[in-house]
Amino acid sequence: MNQNDLPAHLCIAGLGLIGGSLAAALKLTGFEGEISALVRSEKTGDRGLELGFIDRYSLQAEELIPTADMIMLAVPMLSLRDQLRMIRDHVSDAAVITDAGSVKQPFIEDARSVFGSLKQIVPGHPIAGRERTGVDAADANLFLQRRVLLTPVEETSKIAIAKVKSLWQVVGATVECMTPEHHDRVLAATSHLPHMMAFALVDTLATQQEVEEIFRYAAGGFRDFSRIASSDPVMWRDVCLTNKHALLESMQRMQLHTQALQDAIEAGDGDELEAIFNRAKQARDKYTIQ
Ligand code: NAD
Repeated sequence: MNQNDLPAHLCIAGLGLIGGSLAAALKLTGFEGEISALVRSEKTGDRGLELGFIDRYSLQAEELIPTADMIMLAVPMLSLRDQLRMIRDHVSDAAVITDAGSVKQPFIEDARSVFGSLKQIVPGHPIAGRERTGVDAADANLFLQRRVLLTPVEETSKIAIAKVKSLWQVVGATVECMTPEHHDRVLAATSHLPHMMAFALVDTLATQQEVEEIFRYAAGGFRDFSRIASSDPVMWRDVCLTNKHALLESMQRMQLHTQALQDAIEAGDGDELEAIFNRAKQARDKYTIQ
């Protein structure tokens, strides 16, 4: 990591869980640059100041963007295009723009349609998060030992990529690059599909008549599996709408496997059930998940 790559003025657009955590983490590391926040409400900006995450904030892009040498967009996926439009006329030629959105191809399309070129734009996605949202959920250690995936395109400046890499490395993350298509396919399987399963499971149980009893007797397994169903509905609505094809593909594959389980149960086929569970257990044990 090159300290010289770090921005003198980082502007974070959207001071929620991800934006707030990045600001908090930078402050914790003794980051010497200025951190500003472009927010929608004074309440969020005031809270960011109170928590010591940011140095100043504004609701107006023109007050912050012209002097920012890096801009981090940390708003929900379907608000990214508006944010890009909002900053377009104020951003300096040398500034680097990056984002934290969970799906990469739509951000690239938005950036291309608003800016024309992605030379100074580095799409990114921290593989770190939690079920709570908003600036009060921010955690300075959120990115420690976590991966951040960058999905630059052909025209993205190598210098811009190095700068964004340094920003994430300074808050303790490991940075990897991959194509946006690969990112969206992999994340559909590893993150988006499990969230769909958790939402569907909890919704299934919550709409049953014995709902109170079901939740009263829910054991640890249910708690583990259902935790992510407490995630933010707006964020997940946007993820589904923006990663539609890859997510549907993963869900269809999952349906085949659920059907195979159902068939084995129906047929009383213990060998097949054991074989499925063994295969799953071996895979889970082999690729230990932290
Ligand atoms: P959040 O709801 O905690 O924060 C979003 C912030 O953006 C809020 O302060 C909100 O007021 C603000 N905002 C929303 N629309 C806006 C708009 N149009 N203009 C200006 N501000 C606006 O959400 P988050 O979890 O921090 O997610 C931010 C981004 O990071 C999303 O794109 C999400 O896909 C991505 N992400 C989230 C997680 C996670 O686990 N939460 C993990 C990785 C990436």
